[in-house]
Amino acid sequence: MNSERKIASSIASTDSDVSEPPGSVAILAENPCSLEEQNTDFQKISDNSLKFLKQHFPASSVKDWNNWKWQLRNSFSSLQHLQSIIKLSSDEMAVAGNDDINLPIRITPYFASLIANSKPGNAIRKTMVPVMDELIVSPGEESDPLDEHKHNNVKCLVHRYPDRVLFLITNFCSAYCRYCTRSHMVGDSHHSHGRRSDWDEAIDYIRNHTEIRDVLLSGGDPLTLPDERLRYLLSELRTIKHVEIIRIGTKVPVVLPQRITPALLKMLRKFHPVYMSIHFTHPDELTPEVSQACNMIADAGIPMGSQTVLLKGINDEPEVFKKLMQGLLKIRVRPYYLYQCDPILGSAHFRTSVNKGIEIIRSLRGHTSGYAVPHFVIDAPGGGGKIPILPNYVEGKEDGDLLLINYQGKHFKYPDYM
Ligand code: SF4
Repeated sequence: MNSERKIASSIASTDSDVSEPPGSVAILAENPCSLEEQNTDFQKISDNSLKFLKQHFPASSVKDWNNWKWQLRNSFSSLQHLQSIIKLSSDEMAVAGNDDINLPIRITPYFASLIANSKPGNAIRKTMVPVMDELIVSPGEESDPLDEHKHNNVKCLVHRYPDRVLFLITNFCSAYCRYCTRSHMVGDSHHSHGRRSDWDEAIDYIRNHTEIRDVLLSGGDPLTLPDERLRYLLSELRTIKHVEIIRIGTKVPVVLPQRITPALLKMLRKFHPVYMSIHFTHPDELTPEVSQACNMIADAGIPMGSQTVLLKGINDEPEVFKKLMQGLLKIRVRPYYLYQCDPILGSAHFRTSVNKGIEIIRSLRGHTSGYAVPHFVIDAPGGGGKIPILPNYVEGKEDGDLLLINYQGKHFKYPDYM
């Protein structure tokens, strides 16, 4: 973390400067909860969460814990702070004194409860706690490998594909993933995307481009914004006739399930069709709280798809991956994308070979429900967009027959004369 960013992240928890990310605790303080939003009676709390709450926040109540704004205010944002729940490895310790880590640290108490007392090899811990490998830049790595800035027609928009846009509405997240494709902008106050004037400029662009039928809200994490700000944005987008669908890209249901409140869902369902793409990484994320949040989203009529980044030593074992995909179907999330990890700076320790992803897809196709098989894609460096990568089930052609191989390795022919 450079010193400017360190300062920015510490300011974010105390100051109310309007230039901050809009989901930051400062902005939340300016947007107190309505009575409806404060109602946390519906929330489940798991035994694991309860134990963690009693041990690490003895002065706080279950009601506090189930309040998403309490979760944001009490997030772990430094390695020193994390030392109260995990014993840092020497590698993690070395990072503690280093100023060059690219991303700030932020983990909600809820998500931190999943790594309390864990070993350094714990999968979720590796996605959240930085190690010195983050400082090693390998060939082919770039800070913005997808060249999103080149497709920034206005500040908050990436218009890469013909009929849809990516609308970066905040650069704040409730938890920072160490392998984040947008680590060059998220958590960095110099890249604030939450100003009303920036949003309005983006909305005007969408209004003037009638070919745009699909708007993906992302960031940062859109669901870190207060309901009122989301309502403003969604209602503006819904005044544009050619916008057919709105999608929300988020990790909030996984790292901050307390944010999925009846009030939020009541508001979102007014703007249907709304879809949600949720960033899942590992089967250990499928807790009772996450299950409740996803079932509530499904009950609100919001179709959910998952997005998962293939990560070395985290989810690259076929059995682990299958467990995640099958677990998602049980909570009504349809596996959607498996991404080859983008070559951001300092990501080599997370990246697998492309063959590993093909092996995972091969281990799923035919061996479990088709619904549990996501699309494996590489987001092409340089801005080429998502390119699907598939195992090869076609062996060739012989006398007009297509030679096929099935999931069991058995050979078949299809008469392909047409
Ligand atoms: S939630 Fe998404 S945008 Fe936020 S740090 Fe993780 S990968 Fe990046």
